[in-house]
Amino acid sequence: MYRCLIKDFETRPSVTHLLEHPFIKQAHGKDTLLRQQLSVLIREQQDVGSRTKTRHERINTRKTLIIESCPDDDLVNLELLDEETIIAHLQKRYQDLQIYTYVGDILIALNPFQNLSIYSPQFSKLYHGMKRSTNPPHIFATADAAYQSMVTLCKDQCIIISGESGAGKTESAHLIVQHLTFLGKANNRTLREKILQVNPLVEAFGNACTAINDNSSRFGKYLEMKFTPTGAVMGAKISEYLLEKSRVIKQATGEKNFHIFYYIYAGLYHQDNLRKYKLPNKTAPRYIDCVNGKVMQDIISSKLYKEQFDAIQDCFRIIGFTEEEVNSVYRILAAILNTGNIEFASASSQHQSDKSEVPNSEALDNAAALLSIGSEELQEALTSHCVVTRGETIIRTNTVDKATVVRDAMSKALYGRLFSWIVNRINALLQPDTNICAAESGMNVGILDIFGFENFKKNSFEQLCINIANEQIQFYFNQHIFALEQIEYQSEGVDVSLVEYEDNRPILDMFLQKPMGLLSLLDEESRFPQATDQTLVDKFQDNLRNKYFWIPKRVELCFGIQHYAGQVLYNVSGFLEKNRDTLPADIVVVLRTSENRLLQQLFSSPLTKTGNLATSRARVTAASRSLPPQLNSGRNKSPKYLLKVDTMEMMRHPEETTNMRRQTVASYFRYSLMDLLSKMVVGTPHFVRCIKPNDDRQALRFNKERVMVQLRYTGILETVNIRRQGYSHRILIQEFVNRYYYLAFRAHQMPEGSKENAIIILQKAKLDYWVVGNTKVFLKYYHVEQLNLMLREV
Ligand code: ATP
Ligand code: MG
Repeated sequence: MYRCLIKDFETRPSVTHLLEHPFIKQAHGKDTLLRQQLSVLIREQQDVGSRTKTRHERINTRKTLIIESCPDDDLVNLELLDEETIIAHLQKRYQDLQIYTYVGDILIALNPFQNLSIYSPQFSKLYHGMKRSTNPPHIFATADAAYQSMVTLCKDQCIIISGESGAGKTESAHLIVQHLTFLGKANNRTLREKILQVNPLVEAFGNACTAINDNSSRFGKYLEMKFTPTGAVMGAKISEYLLEKSRVIKQATGEKNFHIFYYIYAGLYHQDNLRKYKLPNKTAPRYIDCVNGKVMQDIISSKLYKEQFDAIQDCFRIIGFTEEEVNSVYRILAAILNTGNIEFASASSQHQSDKSEVPNSEALDNAAALLSIGSEELQEALTSHCVVTRGETIIRTNTVDKATVVRDAMSKALYGRLFSWIVNRINALLQPDTNICAAESGMNVGILDIFGFENFKKNSFEQLCINIANEQIQFYFNQHIFALEQIEYQSEGVDVSLVEYEDNRPILDMFLQKPMGLLSLLDEESRFPQATDQTLVDKFQDNLRNKYFWIPKRVELCFGIQHYAGQVLYNVSGFLEKNRDTLPADIVVVLRTSENRLLQQLFSSPLTKTGNLATSRARVTAASRSLPPQLNSGRNKSPKYLLKVDTMEMMRHPEETTNMRRQTVASYFRYSLMDLLSKMVVGTPHFVRCIKPNDDRQALRFNKERVMVQLRYTGILETVNIRRQGYSHRILIQEFVNRYYYLAFRAHQMPEGSKENAIIILQKAKLDYWVVGNTKVFLKYYHVEQLNLMLREV
């Protein structure tokens, strides 16, 4: 229950009036109790309204109702801090539909698995510029806090959303974007609309139905919203990480391909355009048919898919894609589906038993026509390959198996590059208008929404990468919340008892260390053409000797990892091939001959990321300068807590075969992690921890065990402790005095940035529990809000 504090009402508001308030409306079913409570509170607060006010104030305040959140909104305020109490507390709140709870400045979000009416613009207004304690915890409050600190402190911010698959990260990310677009009121309405279309568009291409989540993110996404120094939104930029391309060609039982394939099928069917895109209308193409031909009717008759298709068309149009571009995108998607239908058979010739051919050329012809390339040339590239030995080019034939692998590699490459192109195009269309504001002078709020931790019945290379990325985010969280705090308290001479926490660095080292980490060993093995699944397992077993890795006795070709979030068994079959991710040069050559402009762009030159690399490196260097000296490994080096990644690795698309050392998925993955972290460390982080209350996706069902496990591995309990004792904000004394001296001194006084003056300001502001260290002022998370509010009122 919230404690309702009715403030600033000129005349006593009626209970009926108050019941119209969004929060109170939400608490329906409890009206009688609520009425009684409100009546009491109204009586208590009556005299507040009798203050003399200007007419303008009266008009504004007459509508103001402040509902103060109870102290139990924040776990830090609980008297007992054991697991049981915390769980019971969260459970009670969840049953009352209070899905959000704070742990200091961290937001815990329990997935409600039902639509709540707490996300309307009315709610955005309610949270706009408010102190955190004014309203109950909410995702808008976190977005608001990030926005307000960006504007007040002129510093980039980043919101890191974590949690396992299906916990609600992507939904939270949407809500944050929604509130930020509300706050950063662009003069340009179109820009706002464009930004709101970004997530739905990329998610249509990057999300899919899995065993756990019907809208599971199959890529990592970092969305930066860019603002002018006065806080108006001026553009956006997405970075995408590690799309699970293998889903294009194959999905696990009960899972589906990327949403977009179903959307276009249903949409084009309704437009009577299947023939134009050469898509069969009787049996669904193999890549999207999970149950042997039975899905076709379901797909084309799905109202939802058709509506989604219309929505995607709108997204493309609003963001600014041309009709020609959208048409090319559909052609490439249709070409991928046709490619999947190309079948191979052994060639009849006795002398060439290892030769394959395409007995029925319909799918091949369709794919070639959609890609605007020659059908024969495509067949050649699929069924044979060139080898250059001693300056001589020899053509070798492909077996049926090899041709099938090449076919699927082509589909994956087409989809992966198409996805990157869409993201790049969105970025170009949403680039800040440099006429309005020089891009460099702006600030941004980044929102990280990656795929959550996964543990399926069968886990493969994809799950390994996803889980390593989650390890890295957990590590960053730990560093930020625990390690950095403690080191800094010590060096500043601040006395805070140390909190023990589960450090996952050894696990990360086991994966990322060179040359003996798991990914390096995988890369090494991938370079041997003769390597097999067994040799890979043997290599892991010989070299990884620690408590986080084991080979299970009775399961073949598997290894187990003790992740921070639990034990996972990985099946190595296909690891080597997935890591090599080869796309034969013959395919690249034939695709480059396309007359389709988009396809030419996708394959004209290797898409390099060296531009990104340069900025990443600059960011890392900049970030390392602002870190406490203990955490810095030396000038111009990455901060220690960024795991060292070889920045000289080639930043080429992994699948491309070149004469240089091959870029594997694992090495590209390391680079991606570094790029992501380098973006995150320059901003002030805000954390949202999403929790899945049950595995059945049922509203109001709170499985204590499941929640307990998530709270344990995310370190929430330790976080409660450290947040209770800790100081989430620290500002250099000089900076603090410069910023807040108005609160204690006259404007012309310009006091020097000394420890004494900082103390005078804090005392004058009547704050409690702050500490002034050797060089910094240490503040609780709520102090900053209070100080900024006072500053606005001066
Ligand atoms: P993954 O790691 O698989 O991408 P995720 O953490 O991004 O998972 P979401 O896709 O955000 O999970 O959430 C899963 C589902 O839970 C949503 O499709 C939605 O049905 C429900 N859900 C999550 N958050 C909310 C919310 N705030 N309100 C209503 N429903 C929600
Ligand atoms: Mg998601």
